[in-house]
Amino acid sequence: MNDCLFCRIVAGEIPSTKVYEDETVFAFRDINPQAPTHILVIPKAHIPGCNGVTAGNSAVVAHIFEVIPQIAAAENLAGGYRVVSNCGPDAGQTVPHLHFHILGGKPLALEMA
Ligand code: AMP
Ligand code: ZN
Repeated sequence: MNDCLFCRIVAGEIPSTKVYEDETVFAFRDINPQAPTHILVIPKAHIPGCNGVTAGNSAVVAHIFEVIPQIAAAENLAGGYRVVSNCGPDAGQTVPHLHFHILGGKPLALEMA
């Protein structure tokens, strides 16, 4: 997936501010933060989005949700945070590589749509 922005970030071809990395997961700061803390957590393997999650690749999604609290603790988000994944154009997905936004660092507005 040489044309995928987030695959290229994982490969180090495009710079990012890494906050976490292991064998299967990568996390980095969003370039256009919507909250004081705004981090993107992604599988290293290319999955196009929520609709691309299958029985064959969902283990990494479970792992991402193990990693998210570790990142939240490291980022001092003890007051809480939001995890968001936009799926498809109506949700505003702009990068077709599965990603989970971690948003926090202030009380967040409650609107969901
Ligand atoms: P979404 O709109 O849910 O697909 O989220 C994509 C996110 O990727 C947006 O919040 C962008 O600000 C972020 N983004 C785009 N390019 C980069 C980049 N090079 N480094 C870090 N974040 C990026
Ligand atoms: Zn990709």
